Amino acid sequence: MEVQVAHNVETARSLLIAGEWIQGRSTTFTVLNKFDNRPLAEISTPTAEQVREAVQAAVRAFHDNRKLSPHERGRFLDKTAAALEARSDSLQRTICAEAGFTLSDAAGEVQRAIQTFRLAAEEARRFTGTLVPVEGAPGQVGRMCWTMRIPLGVVAAITPFNAPLNTVAHKVAPALAAGNAIILKPSPHTPLVACQLAEALMEAGTPKGLVSVLHGGAEVVQGLLDEQDVKFYAFTGSTEAGRAIQQRAGLRRTQMELGSIAFGIVCDDADLDFALPKIVNAAYRKAGQVCTSIQLLLVHKNIFPIVEARLTERVRDLAAGNPLDPATVVGPVISPASAQRISDWIDQAVQSGATCLAGGSRQGNVVAPTLLKDISPETPLGCQEVFGPVMSLVPFSTLDEAITQVNATPYGLATGIFTNRLDEAFRFITELQVGGVHINETSSSRVDMMPYGGSKASGFGREGPYYAMREMSEERVATLLSNTNRGKQR
Ligand code: NAD
Repeated sequence: MEVQVAHNVETARSLLIAGEWIQGRSTTFTVLNKFDNRPLAEISTPTAEQVREAVQAAVRAFHDNRKLSPHERGRFLDKTAAALEARSDSLQRTICAEAGFTLSDAAGEVQRAIQTFRLAAEEARRFTGTLVPVEGAPGQVGRMCWTMRIPLGVVAAITPFNAPLNTVAHKVAPALAAGNAIILKPSPHTPLVACQLAEALMEAGTPKGLVSVLHGGAEVVQGLLDEQDVKFYAFTGSTEAGRAIQQRAGLRRTQMELGSIAFGIVCDDADLDFALPKIVNAAYRKAGQVCTSIQLLLVHKNIFPIVEARLTERVRDLAAGNPLDPATVVGPVISPASAQRISDWIDQAVQSGATCLAGGSRQGNVVAPTLLKDISPETPLGCQEVFGPVMSLVPFSTLDEAITQVNATPYGLATGIFTNRLDEAFRFITELQVGGVHINETSSSRVDMMPYGGSKASGFGREGPYYAMREMSEERVATLLSNTNRGKQR
């Protein structure tokens, strides 16, 4: 099937600044189809001067639109959701081509982004502070006190390739819902669908200049960090890049959604018919390129042989290859370099004693869904984020052992546990050092309205429209003492 990438931004006119699509004056890069490496588009990048222009235009748009009501913000966010829905097919085709997602992963990505905009529209209408009962303190009778949420101004969003529409939606929608202007710098692997989202926002009547799009890599982020008028950096990506951004942000606020090694835990009372299909999906969907993909599956030793046998069969059955073939479950990874690194890590694990139960091979950018056991904890697959379709089985005997293993990694994003024993569930929920613990679900079982984020080297701050709006606004306290109440305080 020929991929028609729906994207009506002309090749060079790829930057959105002050509500106009313009050409970047710095350089260009080629966006590739991730299955066959064919060129899809040429994208231009901004000079430092253009980055500054984008920030100044966003500052002006923020001030010009300060009086927009929550109702008006809710309306254009709802209309954006409708505009995305109307172009679902072309968004999906773009995602299949530039991100290498399978048809079903791309459809899920688009549906979730629509949902994220709808949630943000609802939250825009009801975002509020709280009443503080100061009369409870001595000498405060007749005085009212409440808090308000104040937008920060210009927010910059820096996003990764692996959820090229929904992660972008999780930054852009709450930033606008809370009353900010936003400058988006999407992954250079997946700039096209981000441009399509910007087009949907403009079609929905988002005031000119409130949304800008810049393309490029670390140098453009560097330019955005140099601009002190950017008040907040919403980042999703690797821990290494997050650390670099945090160092330059200084006293300005950030939200860091970073890397991870996600665990699954299968206790010996788990309902395997229920758990195993979910585990396979959470390890191999999007070719394992999800920050919450199960990389290490801790399996209780009493059920290890049966889990090993059943998972081996399931993983061997997963069809890998062309993402446009409806039968394909595992498509390509993001680049030849990434495919090569993942293959090397598998080889290193096997050389240091691991058994490869399924997969292990690579064809072009497609790494066969791979299942291993007996990996050494020191091999990269045991201690670094693989971000590919590879899961390793690790036996455990006691709850303490499982908890210690999860907590021993520098990361802490999410863990999924399969058990029906309340006492064990309770211990996992209270003792694991991660942002999310899901009982009878997997680490990747995110619902978009949830507070979502990590601890330790997986970052801080929370996504989910309401929670992100709190991050992207500040609390102001207001008190009021009327004429009539003056002098009567007791
Ligand atoms: P990446 O860090 O390479 O890139 C992410 C973004 O940061 C891109 O826009 C990129 O251009 C920019 N960037 C890269 N290096 C930079 C630097 N030194 N300074 C400033 N900006 C820089 O990440 P990726 O490969 O696109 O995505 C995969 C990573 O993202 C994985 O580590 C994954 O776990 C993580 N991730 C985390 C979450 C989460 O919610 N915690 C979600 C998705 C992805």
